[in-house]
Amino acid sequence: MRIDEQAFARVADLIARDLTATLGWKPSMAQAEARDALGNQAASLPTRLAWEDLAPATQRDVLGEVVVAAVEQLQQFVHDTFVDTSWPPCLRHPTHPMWPGEGDGGGMVWWCAREQAALAPLGGPAWHRAAAWRAALNDRGLPRYQTAGGAAQPATA
Ligand SMILES: [Zn+2]
Repeated sequence: MRIDEQAFARVADLIARDLTATLGWKPSMAQAEARDALGNQAASLPTRLAWEDLAPATQRDVLGEVVVAAVEQLQQFVHDTFVDTSWPPCLRHPTHPMWPGEGDGGGMVWWCAREQAALAPLGGPAWHRAAAWRAALNDRGLPRYQTAGGAAQPATA
């Protein structure tokens, strides 16, 4: 399926922002990887309908599925190549990764499987700041990981 170019570009941008902010990939490389993964997943959709023929709600569902599958594909790559085996680290328990999913509000989110909670929007700046906060702590030699519910948790939106 060929997804509407605007919708495609929007989600590619969200994924690319997260790759750049967390892994330090160049924006052009992150964009290319995100587009590749999205394109792969969209191409594998078993539908003969054209994007334009889908109802808006179905378009959202299809796009959500493609984004989740694309991010999972990227995660698999990042994990398997040992770039970062828990990418992206959970904001509450950084030893396990967050997983992509659809938020209650309809947007795409990063999800903590342990707490069954959406912790950050896909491509959102809030969790990048949280990640930077954690990295800064590490640089000062403080404990790398806080326990859940600790006082010094980064703010998550
Ligand atoms: Zn977690």
